[in-house]
Amino acid sequence: MGSATRDLHILFFPFSAPGHIIPIVDLAKLFASRGVKTSILTTPGNAPSIQLSIDQVNDSSTLRHPIALYLLPFPSTEAGLPTGCENVSSITSANLDTRVKFVRAFELLRQPFARVLRELLPDAVVTDTFLPWTQDVAAELDVPRLVFHGTSLFSLCASDSIDRFKVLDSVPPGSAQSFVLPGLPHRIEMQRSQFRDSSKMPGFTVFFDRIRISEERSYGVVANSYYELEPDYAEHYRKVVGRRLWNVGPVSLCNRNEIEKSRRGDETSIDCSQCLSWLNTKKPGSVVYICFGSMYKLPIAQIREIALGLEASDAPFILVVRDVRGNDSDWLPEGFEEEVVGRGKGLIIRGWAPQLLILNHEAVGGFVTHCGWNSCLEGVSAGVPMITWPMFAEQFLNERLIVDVLKVGVGVGVKEYVDIAAERRVVAGEEIRRAVGRVMDGGEEAEEMRRRARELAEMGRRAVEEGGSSYADVGELIQELIGRRKTTGTE
Ligand code: UDP
Repeated sequence: MGSATRDLHILFFPFSAPGHIIPIVDLAKLFASRGVKTSILTTPGNAPSIQLSIDQVNDSSTLRHPIALYLLPFPSTEAGLPTGCENVSSITSANLDTRVKFVRAFELLRQPFARVLRELLPDAVVTDTFLPWTQDVAAELDVPRLVFHGTSLFSLCASDSIDRFKVLDSVPPGSAQSFVLPGLPHRIEMQRSQFRDSSKMPGFTVFFDRIRISEERSYGVVANSYYELEPDYAEHYRKVVGRRLWNVGPVSLCNRNEIEKSRRGDETSIDCSQCLSWLNTKKPGSVVYICFGSMYKLPIAQIREIALGLEASDAPFILVVRDVRGNDSDWLPEGFEEEVVGRGKGLIIRGWAPQLLILNHEAVGGFVTHCGWNSCLEGVSAGVPMITWPMFAEQFLNERLIVDVLKVGVGVGVKEYVDIAAERRVVAGEEIRRAVGRVMDGGEEAEEMRRRARELAEMGRRAVEEGGSSYADVGELIQELIGRRKTTGTE
C-alpha cells in the first residue's frame, strides 16, 4: 500500500450492545490489518470487553497502527437509567420504555462526540445504525459517515419492501394472516404476527424514521455480509433501496487464532480448553450447539423443555444459558444433570460461551439460533446448518434468508414476534427434538443442507482472502477515502 494510505484514519462508534460492539470491533481489526489507523469510541463500562478483544492483536505487532480506544462518559443517570447501565444487556427491566431511554441516552453524547471528531478529524466515521444523529455531527465537520447495520442485506431489503409498500398497514397486528413481500428477488411469505406491533412502542417508530433519513444522507453502508452469500440482495440494496454499499464480511473471520476466537465480547464462563477437550471426544458433525445470542435470558419453563427435547434427541449438545440462579435442579428436569450431562452427552455453559471456537470445531453439526445476524453469519461461515428460533427484532427476516433462500436451516416453528421473554410461548421439547432431528439425522434433507452450508462457508472464506469480493470492497473503500482526502485538500 502506498504512503498515502499510511495515515488514513477511521473512527468506529458502536451502539452499546454486544451484538453491535462485537462486529464493529472485528471491523476495526479488519481495517487495521489493511494498514488503516483505526480508533474505537465507546463508554467506560464497555471498554474492558473491547480491550479484551483488541489486546492480542495490538500486542502481536502485526498492525501498522495499534487500535486506539477513546471513551465518552455515558449519561445513564441524566437519561433516567440505573447508574452504571451502559449496555443494553444490563437492562433487566421488562419495561420497553427503558430501551427507549437507553437509545435517547446516546443522543446526549452529541456534543462530546462532536468534540472527539473535531479533535481527531478522522477521514471517515463508521457509526452504528442506532446512532442516526452521528450523521448530522459528521456532516457539520465534513467527515464522511458510513453506516454499520450489523444485519443481513436480505433483512434490509425486506424491511424496505415492507415500508415502501406499507405491507403491514392493512393487516391487524398479531394476526396469522400471511402475505408475500412485494418486489423482492425471491417469493418470501410471512405472517403479520412475525412483526412488531408498533403501537406498543410509538417511540421506536419515530426513531426508525430518523434512522432511514440519516442513512439516505450518509456516505454509504458497510455491511457484514459477502456478495456471494446474497448477491440478489446486494444488487437490490444498491439499485432499489439506493444506497452505496461495501460488503466486507464475514467480519468474524478476522479472528484467526484460538485466543482471538475466544476473546470476543466477554470473558468466557468455561475454560476453553475444557470445552475443546469435550468436543474432541465427539464424532465430526454430531454435536448440536444451542445459544440465543447475548441478550436473551431463557425462562426456566423454556430451559426445561429444551432439556427434555435434547434428552430425547440422539445428538450430543452444548447448551448456553444465562442468568439462571439457584441449584441446577431448580431449572433442569429431575435427573438431567446426572443422567444426561454426567454421562457426557451434554455440556451446559452458564454465562458466556466461546461461540466462534465452538462453531468452528469439526464436532459441531447443528446450531439452534435465535437468528441474530452475527450468529447466523458465524454459523454460515463455519458451514453449520441451523435450527432457527427467532424471537424479535429482524430475526424473523433472517430466518427466511436461512431457511427459504440459502436453504441451510429449518425452523423450530415460532411465528410470534414478542419483545418480552416472559410473554413468549414455551416451545415444547417434542418440537425441539423434531427440528433438531431434521438437521442432525443424516437423512437426505439434512445432508443437502450440510453440503450447502459447507459450500457457503468456503465462499465466505474466499471472499475475505486476497482476491476475494469482500477483500476487494475493503480495498476500494480505502482507496476512495484516500482519493476523497486528496480532493478535499486534507492530505
Ligand atoms: N456470543 C458469544 N457467546 C455467547 C453469546 C453470544 O460469543 O455466549 C456472541 C456471538 O458469537 C455473536 C454475538 O455474541 O457474535 C451475538 O450477536 P447476535 O447478532 O447473534 O445476537 P444478539 O446478541 O445481538 O441478539
